[in-house]
Amino acid sequence: MFANMQLSEVGFTEKEINKLNKKGFYTVEDVQAFFPRKYYDFTKIRSLQKQLNGSNIAFVGTLTEVSSKKTNNILMLKAKVIEEGTGRKLHVMWIGSYYLRKIIEPWQGEDVLVCGQLSYEDTYHSFHMNNPVVFTKKIEENLKIFPVYTKFDGISEEWMQDAVEKCLKQECRDMIPEDVVKKRHLPSMKETLFSMHHPASINELKVAYSRLIFNSLYCFDAALEMENNKLSKGSMYNAKSLSYVQKYIEQLPFSLTDSQKKAYNTMKDLAFDGRRINALVQGDVGSGKTAVAFLMMFLMAGAGYQSALMAPTEILARQHYEELNRYADIIGIKSCFLNGKMKKKEKDEILKGIKDGSIQLIVGTTSVVSKDVEYKDLSLAIVDEEHRFGVGAENTLFSKSEKGMHKIVMSATPIPRTITDVLFDSSTLVFDLERPAGRQEVQTCIFNNDEKIYAFLEKQIKEGRQAFVVCPLIEDGTGKSKNKLSVERVTDDYIKRFEMSGIKVSSVTGKTKTDDAKAILDDFKIGNTDILVSTTVIEVGVNNPNVSTIIINNAEMFGVAQLHQLRGRVGRGQYKGYCILKSAERDNKRLQLLCSTTDGFELAKKDAELRGPGDILGERQSGANKDIELVLKFPDWFKEIRKEVKERIINGKTLICE
Ligand code: ADP
Ligand code: MG
Repeated sequence: MFANMQLSEVGFTEKEINKLNKKGFYTVEDVQAFFPRKYYDFTKIRSLQKQLNGSNIAFVGTLTEVSSKKTNNILMLKAKVIEEGTGRKLHVMWIGSYYLRKIIEPWQGEDVLVCGQLSYEDTYHSFHMNNPVVFTKKIEENLKIFPVYTKFDGISEEWMQDAVEKCLKQECRDMIPEDVVKKRHLPSMKETLFSMHHPASINELKVAYSRLIFNSLYCFDAALEMENNKLSKGSMYNAKSLSYVQKYIEQLPFSLTDSQKKAYNTMKDLAFDGRRINALVQGDVGSGKTAVAFLMMFLMAGAGYQSALMAPTEILARQHYEELNRYADIIGIKSCFLNGKMKKKEKDEILKGIKDGSIQLIVGTTSVVSKDVEYKDLSLAIVDEEHRFGVGAENTLFSKSEKGMHKIVMSATPIPRTITDVLFDSSTLVFDLERPAGRQEVQTCIFNNDEKIYAFLEKQIKEGRQAFVVCPLIEDGTGKSKNKLSVERVTDDYIKRFEMSGIKVSSVTGKTKTDDAKAILDDFKIGNTDILVSTTVIEVGVNNPNVSTIIINNAEMFGVAQLHQLRGRVGRGQYKGYCILKSAERDNKRLQLLCSTTDGFELAKKDAELRGPGDILGERQSGANKDIELVLKFPDWFKEIRKEVKERIINGKTLICE
């Protein structure tokens, strides 16, 4: 067993550990994997040429004319660096640097290395560089690839850099078995991590990337294979009763689509045959996965068995519960909602009902798998992944049933076939749901003009529609996030703007108390309020077919998958949907991609193409979403790695080193 190394083991103090924990670093491995966000290639000295305008370059010349001046109480430090031979001048400027003047003044007349973004002024034919990232007399040793790290509020870059160096000295954990490393001639993890932070060349960086991608893909595949081997193959539940299902269908306000019917019928037949269901129901947002889940739950209930539906967020779980409960009431069976924050008395009551079997339909967050929940006869587990993809909790759920249980995973992330094969064993049925007919495409555009947005909203609301407004922050930020719109500020602005026209604005965020949030969402659902301003808490699942417009503020801050999910909140009923990406970045490739298609699979593929491997690896989000993205980007490689893993399973060797 190779456990993660604790930060205390390498000499961080408690205070420092706290500081790191706050930013999501809990182990030495976490810090080692704090990879640069990007790199500048300063290995070659360039000369001053106007074609290099905008590039990050390394330049060497003689330092002259160091001067400083205060304007509006801000110190401007200036200098010129003269190119040998051509005599061209580079104007360098720093803002607010008092101490620097003392350091560089004595260097006048000597050669210095300046690295940073070059700009060329057409009018004066002059070259400029502001706040160069490297400015030194030590030329040779600084001609290198320069890593750029994400900055954190409250942690200096130097301190973080020292922390990284300290952790890089430690042994590096390698999940890949030694013989695979040898056979594939992979560089060691220690070398790889060192190269990520201090690459000697672009080529070395590429090799390091490849190794990390190999690790991710290998571990992802191995973990899936191991889970699949563990799944019990016990006897199956036999469900032979359609009475509840029929009642449910009678109550539905729509008729089922062909793909919903096919998914349901295929699974029902399997269950009737006493065979085990292991299915993936995938379909873009709004394709009606919930109805398929409910059909199956009522089928099981009709046969006297329990089923559990697990959702990734509390809001979504509650919404599923409320909808399910409406039908359960009509049919006359009991359902319940489980969450982590329940009062003990209420919870005990529910747990009792689950244990004695009087409650047949159980909906909740991961609390449906918590230790204290004992099922009487759990026959079906449904995991609504929406666009998250965890391969952990659901397996706990599956171990809750001794007899081997039916399993359905619902996902809006289009999962490539290469992965569905592994995610589920070969008996897995994959159902693709198409969107119900009559839905119109959501029209998407990039926009940055408040007045026009207000006018558009007003028109939609006058026609009886409602709107979501999403913001990246809850409260107004400081520092880097100063220019990002917050729910607080936008709610104020909207209330002021719409006061006169009688349009009602409410807001909800992750900080809103559960009961309050419920009341706010209920009010919005029944149309008491017209505009709901929120953070991305509405991202997963919120269903309100009357909402026609979603405005996403600072859209450039969100990823493609997330924006697509958010967009899926509108156009869910008979009304045309509009998605306004509010952003000053008209040329943003990701935003343009969203405007170009509403096909989730297409988006995922193109997005993976847009993002470099460094982007994917460097992102501090873990979980299978990242792995899926890597598989999308490197499908051939993944196929090869799968062979490797498969072979090891057959040979009965350990798949990964833990
Ligand atoms: P998702 O697949 O994103 O989870 P939902 O299950 O939430 O989608 O369904 C989206 C909306 O479509 C809901 O308002 C639901 O009532 C509606 N819906 C589901 N099935 C159909 C259908 N066959 N015809 C029309 N509307 C449907
Ligand atoms: Mg859903």
